[in-house]
Amino acid sequence: MDLDLVLNKLNDDEKKFVSALIDKDPLTGAYNRRKFDQDIALLGAMYKRTNKGSSLLIIDIDHFKEFNDTHGHPKGDLVLKQVTSTIEKGLRDYDKIHLYRYGGEEFVVIIPDVTADKAIRIGERVRKKVESSCPVTVSVGVSQYRTFSEGLETLIYEADRALYEAKRSGRNKVIVYDQSSEKPEVGDWQKIGRS
Ligand code: GH3
Ligand code: MG
Ligand code: MG
Repeated sequence: MDLDLVLNKLNDDEKKFVSALIDKDPLTGAYNRRKFDQDIALLGAMYKRTNKGSSLLIIDIDHFKEFNDTHGHPKGDLVLKQVTSTIEKGLRDYDKIHLYRYGGEEFVVIIPDVTADKAIRIGERVRKKVESSCPVTVSVGVSQYRTFSEGLETLIYEADRALYEAKRSGRNKVIVYDQSSEKPEVGDWQKIGRS
C-alpha cells in the first residue's frame, strides 16, 4: 500500500503524529535511515533541476562497544541520546532538519549548498561539543559539495572513506575526503587523497 495514500486520509495533526513515528528513531528522536533514503532521493531530483549540490557528514561514536561493555547498554542508550542532542546543538537550525541516525552509533548530516570548508567547520564544531560535554568522542568523515551530476551516492561513499581514515589515524577527528592529498590545515582535521 502506498504510504502517501494512507497519510492523505489523515488530518494535519494525525499526519504529523504518524509521520514522526515513521520517520524518526524512537531512541534518539533523530530522523531514521528510512527517512534518509527518502530524502536523499528527493534531494537528487531537486538538485537535478536546480543544478545544486550538497556536502555530507558521517559521525560515528568512538569505541562505543567498549563504553557499553564497561558501563552497560542502558547507560550507552543514554549517551546515544546525549550525543544526538549535542550534535543538534552544534548544527544551525537550518541543518538540524537533516540529522539522521544512520546506523547503531552512526549519524549522517546532509548539508545542502555549502562548500567543503564550511562543512568541515560544522564537523569540527560538533566534534568539539561532543568532546567537551559527553563521556565519549566522535570521528567525523566529510565529503565535499557535489552537484547531482557527480552523483549523490558518491557523497556517502566518500564520507565513509574519510570516516574510516579518521578512525585509522586515531579517532576524535574530522577528515575530509579530497582528491588532492594536502597536508593538515587546522585543528584536528586533515585532508586525505584518493587512493
Ligand atoms: P569505533 O571507534 O571503531 O567506531 O569502535 P566502536 O566500538 O564504536 O564500533 P563497533 O562497530 O565495534 O561497535 C559499535 C557499538 O555500538 C556496538 C553496539 O553495541 C553499540 N550500539 C549500537 N547501537 C546501540 C544502541 O542502540 N544502544 C547502545 N547502548 N549501544 C549501541
Ligand atoms: Mg563507533
Ligand atoms: Mg559504527
